Amino acid sequence: MPAIRLFGLPTDINSSFERGAAAGPAAIRAALWSDRGNMASELGPEIGVDIMLNDDGDLPLTEDSALDDAAIRRHVAYVREDGEIPLALGGDHAVTFPLVEAAATCFGPVNILHIDAHPDLYADFASNPRSHASPFARICEAGHAKRLVQVGIRTMNRHCREQAARFGVEVIPMADFTPDRVPVLEGPLYISIDLDGIDPSAAPGVAHPEPGGLTVRELLAVLHKQTAPIVGADIVEHHPGRDVGDVTAILGAKLIRELVALIDRNGPAKTTL
Ligand code: MN
Ligand code: MN
Repeated sequence: MPAIRLFGLPTDINSSFERGAAAGPAAIRAALWSDRGNMASELGPEIGVDIMLNDDGDLPLTEDSALDDAAIRRHVAYVREDGEIPLALGGDHAVTFPLVEAAATCFGPVNILHIDAHPDLYADFASNPRSHASPFARICEAGHAKRLVQVGIRTMNRHCREQAARFGVEVIPMADFTPDRVPVLEGPLYISIDLDGIDPSAAPGVAHPEPGGLTVRELLAVLHKQTAPIVGADIVEHHPGRDVGDVTAILGAKLIRELVALIDRNGPAKTTL
């Protein structure tokens, strides 16, 4: 079984409204290793006992997107060279572009399960093509997504609807949502979780809270039904400055445990490139 490697990406240079997500990895990591909770997963295994989770700490990022993107891609390549599977903590959602690019370099275009209140498909947001409102436009343009399925979306506007149609994005709207509307994707599978996809009552520590989101149980059902080999995952957009009683950090830590158990259960993917 593959070991899983956690690393933090403490950056918020591509946040469009309010910075603060750079402090996310440290807050989630503190909740993960805290004695307040144990390391069990709902799938059964205990992290650190039944499944190995290595923690590289945070990457030393800069204030330069191009340099940071290269550093993130290089780090994913190191992780893969060691035969491990990358699990990244954001940071703002812009980090998903180099993370998926690195996965596609190894496996070819990937199937992506994207949890978010926002489609993040802007061609260019506030004159920044690397904005955290745009990573999935960059991913689709680069041809890195075989299939992109978005769950939790409840902020769709005309521009993003046009972008979704142009790229063939499958958007599962939040209205009348049930987990069985989410397809079981084939591998290689990449999972990206923007914490604002979950309802702000359960995840207030985000820069762009949007009412009417997923419950934690709905998100777990969507994750646990996925059976394909997972080649990478991220949990992004935690903004500790807006958190209440650390509940969002504690949720991030729980999602790490569930993703690690899911990656382990679904098994390794074959490299095709
Ligand atoms: Mn979002
Ligand atoms: Mn996002």
